[in-house]
Amino acid sequence: MAGVSAHPLGLQQQMSLRDYTTWKVGGPAAWLAEPADQQQLQALLSWSLEHKLPLRCIGAGSNLLVADGGLGGLTVCLRRLQGSRLDTAAGVVEALAGEPIPTLARKAARAGLAGLEWAVGIPGTVGGAVVMNAGAQGGCIADCLESVQLLDPADPGAVVELRASELDYAYRHSRLQQEPWIVLAARFRLQSGQDPAEVSRRTSANLQSRTNSQPYQQPSCGSVFRNPEPHKAGQLIEALGLKGQRIGDAQVSPIHANFIVNCGAASAADIAALIARVQQRVQEAHGITLHTEVKRLGF
Ligand SMILES: Cc1cc2nc3c(=O)[nH]c(=O)nc-3n(C[C@H](O)[C@H](O)[C@H](O)COP(=O)(O)OP(=O)(O)OC[C@H]3O[C@@H](n4cnc5c(N)ncnc54)[C@H](O)[C@@H]3O)c2cc1C
Repeated sequence: MAGVSAHPLGLQQQMSLRDYTTWKVGGPAAWLAEPADQQQLQALLSWSLEHKLPLRCIGAGSNLLVADGGLGGLTVCLRRLQGSRLDTAAGVVEALAGEPIPTLARKAARAGLAGLEWAVGIPGTVGGAVVMNAGAQGGCIADCLESVQLLDPADPGAVVELRASELDYAYRHSRLQQEPWIVLAARFRLQSGQDPAEVSRRTSANLQSRTNSQPYQQPSCGSVFRNPEPHKAGQLIEALGLKGQRIGDAQVSPIHANFIVNCGAASAADIAALIARVQQRVQEAHGITLHTEVKRLGF
């Protein structure tokens, strides 16, 4: 359903979230807004407080399974809150929460700053990557994050700064996943004085190796399951012959078994059912519980 776009805060009602997730599924948000700057974001937080509406923040929606029934309250998508500042000599990079992490990786490489080469194939925002401790090819956010600027929805006027060491980083985990805070911006410490051509070459090679081995042409959320150390979720699933398994238009990717792809008209319910089937089969065969990396909203 089309939203009502004339609201002064850019609020839209009953807005489908399908185009706000990389899986291309999900029902409508009761209220949706995409602030373009910090002031708009703070005004939206105040509005949700005033109307006593629950608030959720999303980035590029590349790690989300949004229920077909949609989401109540206010959903704030930060993908328009873009921008970054690079201090090449000091190796310091500051980026707003909505900056695409691949864009930041490319900018850093061109400036001769090493440390984000692994991030180029992750289609999320800086905010989502900081919350998820996104990582690939041996690197992760926690390795280079120095500090974050946060907003507390209960006190929208105040910007709080926390150091990375205060965020309990671990494999695909940060304290931010349990807290209501909104990531406004992040500051990274990278290695300065590197050869831009060489950092760019490594960055491109990382992207190439991912597009060769992962189904980038179909809607997905990347890896569905966390790796149950010391195992790889994809290998456990593949060993059971589950590649290609389908429920509706949701399919365990024939290319990479830890990806579930939307072959066209999958619903969130199809995907959730396929996740449950894979979990059950792995539990029965290996006695291992697979936990999802993807965040479910509205279930
Ligand atoms: C093709 C593909 C490949 C992928 N490969 C990888 C990979 O190699 N490694 C990896 O780690 N991930 C990977 N992912 C998953 C995903 O891209 C990452 O988890 C990414 O960090 C999510 O960022 P996002 O902006 O899309 O966050 P979203 O999916 O929008 O949100 C993720 C979580 O963060 C919260 N959040 C988002 N922004 C904010 C904010 N500003 N403040 C507070 N909370 C916020 C949301 O509420 C949600 O809980 C892949 C996904 C796809 C589609």
